[in-house]
Amino acid sequence: MHDAGWHRVVLKLSGEAFAGGDEFGIDGETVAGIAESVAAAVAEGNEVAVVVGGGNIVRGAALSGAGMERGRADYMGMLGTVINCLALQDFLENLGIDTRVQTSIHMSQVAEPYVPRRAIRHLEKGRVVIFGAGLGAPFFSTDTTAAQRALEIGARAVLKATQVDGVYDSDPRRNASAVKFDRLNYNEVLTRGLQVMDATAVSLCMDNHLPIVVFDLMGTGNIVRAVRGEKIGTLVST
Ligand code: UDP
Repeated sequence: MHDAGWHRVVLKLSGEAFAGGDEFGIDGETVAGIAESVAAAVAEGNEVAVVVGGGNIVRGAALSGAGMERGRADYMGMLGTVINCLALQDFLENLGIDTRVQTSIHMSQVAEPYVPRRAIRHLEKGRVVIFGAGLGAPFFSTDTTAAQRALEIGARAVLKATQVDGVYDSDPRRNASAVKFDRLNYNEVLTRGLQVMDATAVSLCMDNHLPIVVFDLMGTGNIVRAVRGEKIGTLVST
C-alpha cells in the first residue's frame, strides 16, 4: 500500500509533457491543465515543489551527438527548462496560486536563486516552488534534480509524471502483453533496466530511501491522487 498523504512532494514534469501532442515547444492548454491539477493539490493543504524538464526545448545529449561540446549543450538544456518553468508559473499565478521559480543558474530578472531553506519557507506558506535549470551542472538530468531537491527540502516522495500509467516490464506502447508493476524496489529497477528514471536518480533515491511514484500525468485527477498518496501507477521504494 502507498503511504497515506505525502504532504510535501516534488513533482517531476518532463518537458515533453509541456509540448502537448507536439514534439517541441509549449502548448498553453496543456500547461494550463497541469497548473489546474497542481493548484487542486495545493488547495488540499499539500506542499508541492515542481522540477521541470526541458526535452521539448533542447536535449543536451542530442546536440552533443550532433557535434556540440556536451557541457555547452547541457547548459542549453538547462536554460530550456527555465522557459518551461516560467510558463508553468504564469498559468499557476493565473489561478491565484503564489509561486516562486528558483534556478540553479542565476538569472535574477526572472527567478530567485536556489536557496533550499527559502524554498521550504515558500512551501510552508502555500506557495508552489518551481525548480529550474536542473542541478546547474552538465551530465545530470532533471530526474536526478528532482531526487536531489526532494532530499534537500525534506519532501517525502518524488512523483514522476509520465505518459504511461506506471512501470511495465516492456514498452506497453509496443507490446500488448506488457505487464505493469504495482510496486518495485530500487534494485529491481536498476538490474532490469526499467524505465523509471535514469540510474543516477534511482541510486540517489535508493541510498536515501526516497519513494518514487511513477504515474500517468494526463489521467483526470491523477496529480491530486498521487500527491494524496493514493494507490496509483507504480511505487518504487525500499
Ligand atoms: N540538464 C543538465 N543538468 C541537469 C539537468 C538537465 O545538463 O542537472 C540538461 C540536459 O542537457 C538535458 C536537458 O537539460 O538533456 C533537459 O533536461 P531533461 O532531459 O532531464 O528533461 P526532460 O527529459 O525531463 O524533459
